[in-house]
Amino acid sequence: MKRSIFFLLAICSFASWGQLPQKNYALTNVNLFNGVDNRIITGSVIYVNGKIEKIGKAGEAIPKEYEIIDCQNNYAIPGMMDAHTHINNLESAKRALMSGVTTFRTAGVSAYQDVSLRDLAKSGRIAGPVVIPAGVFVTPNPGETILADPRLGVLINGVNTDDELKLLVNVNIDRGAEVIKTRGTERAGLPETDPRQQSYTQRQLKVIIDEAAKRNVPVMIHAHGDEGARAAVAAGARSIEHGTFLSDETLKLMKEKGCFLVPTYITLEDLTKPGGDYSGAVLELRGRFMMPAAEKVFKKAHALGVKIATGADNDYTPVSTSRISLECEHYVRMGMTNFEAIQSATVVAAELLRIQDKTGRIQPGFEADIVIIPGNPLEDIRALQDALIVMSNGHVALKRLPFGKE
Ligand SMILES: [Zn+2]
Repeated sequence: MKRSIFFLLAICSFASWGQLPQKNYALTNVNLFNGVDNRIITGSVIYVNGKIEKIGKAGEAIPKEYEIIDCQNNYAIPGMMDAHTHINNLESAKRALMSGVTTFRTAGVSAYQDVSLRDLAKSGRIAGPVVIPAGVFVTPNPGETILADPRLGVLINGVNTDDELKLLVNVNIDRGAEVIKTRGTERAGLPETDPRQQSYTQRQLKVIIDEAAKRNVPVMIHAHGDEGARAAVAAGARSIEHGTFLSDETLKLMKEKGCFLVPTYITLEDLTKPGGDYSGAVLELRGRFMMPAAEKVFKKAHALGVKIATGADNDYTPVSTSRISLECEHYVRMGMTNFEAIQSATVVAAELLRIQDKTGRIQPGFEADIVIIPGNPLEDIRALQDALIVMSNGHVALKRLPFGKE
């Protein structure tokens, strides 16, 4: 009895604390989608030595220094990316990992927990995910988040002047943020705010972007309404988050300037349903109104060739219902090919996060961020919803195979 309780605890926490062992693995009997070629390479072997070492063929002898993981002719895809999440604790990070997300970018957390998560994964004490932290949200009324750093106390009355904006940007970067998150419009996820209403002006957004650029840090901008979004794109945003009411003109400007769209469509669906991260009568009505608008924008953005990356915009709490795999399912329903939708969650998201040379594809030299799923995702996008094995940074984070007793 004691032993089974111990075992349960062991799988409920991140392995044991302390450095994870770095083993060499050979993932055999894999049908491989490498992220860049629109096809499946059947009968592959993926050799991992921390990074992806090489891709071999079925039947070849596996050198004995590799631990074999038989993938039983299931399918490998590059680890998925969540480019917009508010994860701020270990259990949520783990839930994301278990869903096949091996990299995430935060969109603002209250006290630099995202920076600590990043460093913990980097140290090899947890299997992942890789974290691109945004630190504290640059917003006119930061509220309690001014407690995140003693230097932010002077912002108790708001973040509006050039000096206030610059201070928050610089404290974030000092504390380890790799992206700045700010606001073009009000929120959709609160009943009392109007998501169409512009927040910071184009001039204020430019102050933020220019200050961050001095330290080579890009800026992601939350915007639903078109006026606020246009200001954000014109000011030089790296990505527009949500973009529910974008006009054709703004979308064209995004295409022209190489600004990414992170639709977080799955969250609008969450608004319309009880439970999940967002619920309430006002949000339900609002979500129902916003979903068709967001769908229209998605289709136009896709047709124009605006780069689209996946984000689930949730906290991965025990009640969260949105996932990157579900976001991809919507992308396919709204007109992307399966190939394009998976790329939105892998190579395109990696480009947005400026890590496309490190991860997002299963090729030699790239980080070993690999998810094994039960079906061909180029034929059935729903296969993404069932992660069987998750490897992150060369560590086995989840292994559900074999289902039968050996
Ligand atoms: Zn968000």
